[in-house]
Amino acid sequence: MASSSSNKEGRWSLAGTTVLVTGGSKGIGRAIVEELASLGATVHTCARDEAVLSRCLKEWEARSLAVTASACDVSVRTDREALAGRVSSMFDGKLNILVNNAGTSFLKPAVDITAEEYSRVMATNFESCFHLSQLVHPLLKASGRGSIVNISSIASLLGCSNLPVYSASKGAMNQVTRSLASEWASDEIRVNCVAPGLIRTPLFDDLVEGNKFLQTEVPRIPMRRAGEPEEVAATVAFLCMPAASYITGQVICADGGRVLL
Ligand code: NAP
Repeated sequence: MASSSSNKEGRWSLAGTTVLVTGGSKGIGRAIVEELASLGATVHTCARDEAVLSRCLKEWEARSLAVTASACDVSVRTDREALAGRVSSMFDGKLNILVNNAGTSFLKPAVDITAEEYSRVMATNFESCFHLSQLVHPLLKASGRGSIVNISSIASLLGCSNLPVYSASKGAMNQVTRSLASEWASDEIRVNCVAPGLIRTPLFDDLVEGNKFLQTEVPRIPMRRAGEPEEVAATVAFLCMPAASYITGQVICADGGRVLL
């Protein structure tokens, strides 16, 4: 067992760790930033909207959370390279945890999806996850205890109407989780994935607005409710902990049991 996990306090703490969370200004990403920072991590996050990020930074400062942030569109290759460069200088070439959370989605029949929509969803959800993992691999390796958590979706495991490209992008995240876990275990880097079900966030509000999605979906969830961002964040925090030191290559659903039905 790794030395940091040999005592109980160390197993359940992120004190002294450095983290990059993409898409941390809203929803699940914001809950992840706050959960990891409150467990002792120093976190850098990003999003496209600088005004929203500045408001978040003020709130985090008021709560004494060690969080910094910068604007970045993770669907753009040069933005991802610049982000990795900033993180490397900020954390002296070492990073313990990467959370690939930023994602986008919309409900649309397969036949109506344009080439631009296809490229945007794949670049934001999958390409960013793979490329950022590649970019920070040397930093994770240098930390001596690296961990990646990808945020996919239970849409990757089900047949969902009107989400064909989104589901495929999330299925690709599940698979790259397994491949990188296998390839990078010898570098002391664990790679896992959390697949949320229906979670109350701004993205969820956009998806359910003006349609019957919620009425049809909630009865299919054994726990009969949507989840909260904090319930996903807690799952991510566990996977980042030394307590999860023997877990890699897994896709864990946080979905109130939805995939069981
Ligand atoms: P959300 O409420 O829309 O928040 C998304 C966050 O990511 C925001 O901070 C957003 O800020 C940022 N973001 C979006 N596109 C970005 C880009 N191109 N570059 C950088 N940042 C970007 O979404 P959410 O519901 O929390 O979802 C988070 C993740 O969970 C996504 O990967 C999503 O697919 C997954 N998920 C969500 C649900 C759900 O029910 N909510 C279910 C399953 C999986 P800006 O807009 O300012 O960039």
